[in-house]
Amino acid sequence: MTEKRATVDLVPLGDRVRQLRLFRLGIVVVVGLLALVDRDGRMVSGLALFAATGGYLAASLLAEGLWRIGRSRSLVLFGVMLMTDALFLSWATYATGGSVSPVRYLIIAHLVTVSLLASFRTGLKLALWYTLLVLVVYYAQQAEILQPVGAALRGLPGNEYRRTALFIVAFWLITGATSAFSAVNERELRRRRFDLEALAELGADLEGAADSFDVADTLLHRLAETFGFERMLLLGAPEDDLVLFARRGSEQGIGSVCPAGVGSAIVEAWASRDTLLVSELDPETDPWLVAALPDARNLILTPLSAESRAVGVLVIEHSLRRGSRIERRVVSMVERFASHASLALRNAWLLEQVQKMATTDGLTGIANRRSFDIGLERELSRAFRNDSPLTVVLLDLDHFKQLNDTYGHQVGDEVLRMVGGALSEHCRDFDMAARYGGEEFAVIMPGCDEAESVEAAERLRRVVAQADSPVAVTASFGVATYPGNGSTVDDLIKAADDALYQSKRAGRDRVTVARPVDADVAEPLTQSKR
Ligand code: GH3
Ligand code: MG
Ligand code: MG
Repeated sequence: MTEKRATVDLVPLGDRVRQLRLFRLGIVVVVGLLALVDRDGRMVSGLALFAATGGYLAASLLAEGLWRIGRSRSLVLFGVMLMTDALFLSWATYATGGSVSPVRYLIIAHLVTVSLLASFRTGLKLALWYTLLVLVVYYAQQAEILQPVGAALRGLPGNEYRRTALFIVAFWLITGATSAFSAVNERELRRRRFDLEALAELGADLEGAADSFDVADTLLHRLAETFGFERMLLLGAPEDDLVLFARRGSEQGIGSVCPAGVGSAIVEAWASRDTLLVSELDPETDPWLVAALPDARNLILTPLSAESRAVGVLVIEHSLRRGSRIERRVVSMVERFASHASLALRNAWLLEQVQKMATTDGLTGIANRRSFDIGLERELSRAFRNDSPLTVVLLDLDHFKQLNDTYGHQVGDEVLRMVGGALSEHCRDFDMAARYGGEEFAVIMPGCDEAESVEAAERLRRVVAQADSPVAVTASFGVATYPGNGSTVDDLIKAADDALYQSKRAGRDRVTVARPVDADVAEPLTQSKR
């Protein structure tokens, strides 16, 4: 797992500076009071102590000022401020009696405050700095650079050396304990922040997902990024079957159906709505999963559910090591990831359903008029760009009113369904068959030129005539081709419609090719009949 965020921004630097400001005020008040009252064992005059406290206050205010005007609220300035505090407190300790000065307690309070407020690392660094300062003061006395405090403290038990050493040990113990406590808190804080950020990133990515497959893929991508999982599957159930929507580290085909049976771990997770941890798969009960993730070990199977309906199962291999255990925190994060994705998946499916309803014809299940219009517009501009031909075929069932009158509307509907199905089944992959209106259909044939168009339409005419329909039915066809019959949607439709009308007039059940726009008006229409 990658927890890469720095400790320093767990709590904004500004907040920490604000809290330390109060502490500094406390230092100024306490040392200032000592200058007034404590006379015993003082190494400098009250006035000097007072002046130094004033100087410290001025330095703190200057640092505050720099902090406010400075554009970059830098860690360096923060560090310098802490070092200045320590310098002043160390000097004040010496000035008010060295190893027995009451200011020592302020040093300990300072270390505890910084360990808790800034970070445990800063606390430890500061303790190191204090050790250095205390030793410098001690040896400066030994070298008589500073006046030794021992002289003023005669009669106290122990000597200055022992008391100084004890003081250093004491503040290290206290700082160590505080830092340990602070480190535990920081780690937890960092983890929570990491988890929150990972969830936020997932949310943002899911918003940009184009469709349900993209949603599934996004989930696996984020899980891989966040936890480093290498092999994963996402099975979704938009309807009844569990279908593979996304995979990582598996060769199983997207869209393949998982035939999960009794005893399968997938079914167990799905039915219990609870995460299942499986150390090894049983090829007897989970053949599909074993094939999708060969030699899989240590699996997490998390059910996906949205609005109390099970919508899928997430399968993750968390480790290849035998007997590997997974942290509870990771499992609960996986569950949170899954629940976010479940909602996104359900919404994507709803949207896809609505889109399907908006683009397909309810009766025949093929493209509706709207998608035909959009498709023709799109294909025509593509044909224009690529300088390639395009054919539009319009067909109208013959004597359909009569069929309805004779056999009833339900039979009529069934005939329409069968004709629609036969048309879409028998046109080429990149052709588009649509229900144009009542008993009229249309087919867009990209890349099909005039020469090929008659043959293609003839083929469809036979398809209609031989469709597996409850009552035999024929259709009349009109064919128009870009660029010969026009270069706009309207021109092409008009040309195909006119040709269709000609087919009707000439006796139905036939194909008529539209007259080229630049041809002589006298030229007859090309018509084909069985
Ligand atoms: P023609 O050979 O000239 O095309 O004759 P026709 O009877 O097919 O022509 P007309 O346009 O007069 O009739 C079309 C009929 O198609 C009328 C309508 O009842 C029927 N129809 C249109 N939509 C549906 C539908 O959704 N279901 C059924 N059952 N019939 C429909
Ligand atoms: Mg009609
Ligand atoms: Mg008709």
